[in-house]
Amino acid sequence: MANPNNIRINIVGAGLAGSEAANFLASKGLIVDLYEKRPLVSSEAHHTDLYGELVCSNSLKSKELTNACGLLKEEIKKLGSLMMEASVPSEVKGGDSLNVDRQVFAQYITEKIKSNKNIRIHSEDVADFKDGITLICTGPLTSKELLYKISEISGQKTYGFFDASSPIIKKDSIDLNKCYFKSRYEDEEDATYLNCPMNKDEYDKFYNELIKAEKAPLHSFDTKYFEGCLPIEVIGDRGYETLRFGPLKPVGLPDKNGNIPYAVVQLRQDDLIGDLYNMVGFQTNLKYEEQKRVFKLIPGLENAKFVRFGLMHRNSYVYAPKVLDDELRLKNNKNVYIGGQLSGVEGYVESAATGLLAAYYIYMNVMNIPHNNLSFYSVLGSLVRYITHTGINNFSPMNANFGIMYKANIDPKNVVIDRSLKAIDDFKNQIK
Ligand SMILES: Cc1cc2nc3c(=O)[nH]c(=O)nc-3n(C[C@H](O)[C@H](O)[C@H](O)COP(=O)(O)OP(=O)(O)OC[C@H]3O[C@@H](n4cnc5c(N)ncnc54)[C@H](O)[C@@H]3O)c2cc1C
Repeated sequence: MANPNNIRINIVGAGLAGSEAANFLASKGLIVDLYEKRPLVSSEAHHTDLYGELVCSNSLKSKELTNACGLLKEEIKKLGSLMMEASVPSEVKGGDSLNVDRQVFAQYITEKIKSNKNIRIHSEDVADFKDGITLICTGPLTSKELLYKISEISGQKTYGFFDASSPIIKKDSIDLNKCYFKSRYEDEEDATYLNCPMNKDEYDKFYNELIKAEKAPLHSFDTKYFEGCLPIEVIGDRGYETLRFGPLKPVGLPDKNGNIPYAVVQLRQDDLIGDLYNMVGFQTNLKYEEQKRVFKLIPGLENAKFVRFGLMHRNSYVYAPKVLDDELRLKNNKNVYIGGQLSGVEGYVESAATGLLAAYYIYMNVMNIPHNNLSFYSVLGSLVRYITHTGINNFSPMNANFGIMYKANIDPKNVVIDRSLKAIDDFKNQIK
């Protein structure tokens, strides 16, 4: 077997995927050259210089194993995920969801990476491929130059869709006489969600202003929205009732008097001490002034102080079924692996998971360890099988769901869960 200390791996991007991969490979004794462009060159969506920054929501979604993203989190925890490790000290109350304080979360990841003596950090905006084995985890906002290089080497153009982030508000600017704490369907009051109730007149006024509010210009013509993360104004454009059956749905959220409001805007705790709340489902491309004007029409937010406005970006990805093999390598350059959102998955956990899995494959390959690929009995294996084998003509990025998993909607959930976790153990045990 090769000596790991003699092996050097390049990783480009210290986001969710790149940090996972660097942490895993370094823990195995390999030397990692980690290239990160921030703070040298900032990104439109990132707000700090921290690694593993969550650019929008602070939710890592469901904790339940009966939910595909919940099961995926359990899978990557077994694989030694840094994201899951960082979520322990940073967790904020979130009911069934794993919500974190984004600053504490990213700070934990940054310190873990920076203090690892096997990781050499390079502040560089990488525009070309590095010599040797390279994992590219530059995310949805990968620069044009690097996308061009990937297209050139893979022989396929890269694609994109628009994705947006939601505003964050200071709690002390929210009128707590009008809003109430409650998680949907739960009897007990807790501080996870703060609800702004609307009667019909208030909803009508808000709705009418929202759909005519001025949007920021977008700079690409061939780009579609991601249906799972539509801007609030685009949902509104689809009809008067779509918001009331979507992000503003009031069911399970009776007010202090037990009455169900006409519509409810939910705010979710964003930091550990509970000073900040983000607007759930309010990803938006409205101009900043318009966000201020329209969102202040929501009862309780009349004097809201926005610490961050919503923003929209092109979200790039490679056409995975054509360019990636089963181990997340470029089919026509086996030295180059792609992980994270750029590989054609969607979501924080999915991005971290594919970065980690790519690192496992890199390790197995450079150490010449005979191995079977991760089984599609697992959520992660199914996700990678989906992106690398499906939709040859109309591929779109995919997030974790049971629909793409073998027999997951037929077999009882406990069977699906046991099978998936066993698949992870079998995979991991190959490198012992
Ligand atoms: C606006 C927006 C909102 C989103 N909101 C959510 C959400 O609420 N929930 C969710 O689950 N997912 C969301 N996503 C999708 C996705 O989960 C995140 O983008 C996630 O951070 C992707 O992880 P990643 O590691 O692939 O990329 P990133 O976390 O973006 O990491 C990429 C890293 O690479 C660095 N980099 C980029 N180019 C270079 C280069 N050329 N040289 C060196 N370094 C480089 C970047 O600075 C960054 O640190 C959102 C995406 C966008 C764009």
